[in-house]
Amino acid sequence: MKQPIHRPLVARLLGASAIALVTALAPLGTASAQDAKPAASTPAQVDPRHVWDVTPLFADDAAWDAARKQALADLPALEALKGTLGKDAATLRAGLDRMSQVGHRVEKVLVYAYLHYSTDTRNDAYQERWSLAQALSAQAQAATAWLSPEIQAVGAEKIGAFIQADAGLAKHAFRLNDMLRLKAHTLTPETEAALAAYGPVLSAASNTYSALANADIDWPELTLPDGTTRKVNQSGYQSLRQHADRAVRKAVFDSFWTKFGQYATTMGNTLSAAVQTGTIDAKLRGYPTAVAASLASNDIPETVYRTLVAEANKGLPTLHRYFKLRQKMLKLPDLHYYDIYPSVVELDKKFTLDQSRTLTLAAVKPLGKDYVDLLADLTAKRTMHVYPSEGKDSGAYHWGTYGVHPYVFLNHQDDYNSMSTYAHEWGHGMHSALAQKAQPYELAGYSLFMAEIASTTNEMLLTDYLVSKAKTKQEKLFYLGQSLENLRGTFFRQTMFAEFELATHDAVERGEALSGSKMKDIYCGLLKKYHGDAEGVMKIDEKYCAEWAFIPHFYRPFYVYQYATSISAGTYFAEQISKGGTKARDNYLNVLKAGGSEYPYPLLKKAGLDMATSAPYQALVRRMDATMDQMEKLLAE
Ligand SMILES: [Zn+2]
Repeated sequence: MKQPIHRPLVARLLGASAIALVTALAPLGTASAQDAKPAASTPAQVDPRHVWDVTPLFADDAAWDAARKQALADLPALEALKGTLGKDAATLRAGLDRMSQVGHRVEKVLVYAYLHYSTDTRNDAYQERWSLAQALSAQAQAATAWLSPEIQAVGAEKIGAFIQADAGLAKHAFRLNDMLRLKAHTLTPETEAALAAYGPVLSAASNTYSALANADIDWPELTLPDGTTRKVNQSGYQSLRQHADRAVRKAVFDSFWTKFGQYATTMGNTLSAAVQTGTIDAKLRGYPTAVAASLASNDIPETVYRTLVAEANKGLPTLHRYFKLRQKMLKLPDLHYYDIYPSVVELDKKFTLDQSRTLTLAAVKPLGKDYVDLLADLTAKRTMHVYPSEGKDSGAYHWGTYGVHPYVFLNHQDDYNSMSTYAHEWGHGMHSALAQKAQPYELAGYSLFMAEIASTTNEMLLTDYLVSKAKTKQEKLFYLGQSLENLRGTFFRQTMFAEFELATHDAVERGEALSGSKMKDIYCGLLKKYHGDAEGVMKIDEKYCAEWAFIPHFYRPFYVYQYATSISAGTYFAEQISKGGTKARDNYLNVLKAGGSEYPYPLLKKAGLDMATSAPYQALVRRMDATMDQMEKLLAE
């Protein structure tokens, strides 16, 4: 959530879209803490205990290159399987087993290359290996693009009979059935090929936005009270918006959003094109709405999305209460949109790597001895790249591959945020480790809808533990304040984005036209509603409504809602687990162990959590209220 800047994920090598390399951007507005480039230390100063050991992947670079070449050499054999899989159960099984084998090798090649690359992005050899690995991945994808259409052509009846006849197909059954499920929404091969050929044209809108927002805009400069001059570009905005001086914050907001507002017409065109692409594609594929089409890849019911939005709206009085509390703590006469980022409580306390580990292990004790023991074992090994160094990428991520322990990338700076990131990333790491123990390769990988549940559950448990052990009022207030801000940024803000996506797509589906000014109106309405403009909680200045034009995630519609659903599920599980009882804990651990063996919605439902009901979202709102109860009590002391 607030922690990872990017987290590459690779799905299994099965079918056209399966082996996509996804870069999951952190939600905007919550990534600021990671944006500052870490203080550099030279690689020579790095202690080997703080640098991961990649030899469980490949003994050396030569072994990596041999594996890459082997995978390339295997691809023609995968292509040659085309047209054979409908023959009989044994042929199907042998073909899919072969694909798994090559897919796993490709994944290992990718992981090894990326682990190196992220630790020094300036290194030419690392760059080259990462490019070669990505090229291999793309070629592997192309070599197996025929699989899904072929399975769909063979048909459900025959594939079902094959699965019955050959026990070796059990581990492939989920993905086979998934391909068959999507048959009704797959077009003829000619149409699919035509759409694929138009792919680069269809992404032009997003590329234009990106070129404008990241390169072409001539950003304003601002002179700070200390006399220094800063450019208010994207990174300047993200670091200056939390400035302690209110006048600086206002000046930053004024200049940044006025600049964005000047491009409203162009940005309106690009975003409108992106929205129309989604609605047309959904219509062509026989989905009722664009949101339904997007959620179909994980078989998530549309009601999950709409319930999230409705419940966040019901929870707005709690969000407004939080803003009023911030106003009180920041001692401000009134609240404006530029007042949402500065921190309300400071804590001058160090958390070393050893403390991050010890405290995280203590905090996850409610998850049981097995969980704690496994985490202790993994974190005692050389599984992490811990400290910032020159050329190292910013942020944090977890990645790995089947059969090898998880790897965790950090930029540990011995502060609270670093420790929270540690607990977060090891939530991911443990999810992967538990799923791999319980599932075969084909079923271990989990979807993005599930990915942030384990990480946020760990964050909640850590906060609860720290609050319970805090020695001073200030310390307690700090943890509670950090937790509140995380809930605001990840639940309410991301749901506000999700609601904007819904509103723009719904408008196009009703036959309305979108423009920059119309999108500004929609966004302004949402900003005012979420921040309590009419209730007198926070004044929203119209020029800040240009924010809609800035959010890159809008070019990847119906994606950010997963941050909000995940933190809601994480809150729900943390609440249930803290109440005690092994049943809640086992329910939760079973979700992690299931990996990708089931669709997220029924999997969570089996664990007692129906994401189409108010339960998870109310748990989140309840946690915010309880946190504020505690803070107000401390402040009154
Ligand atoms: Zn994460």
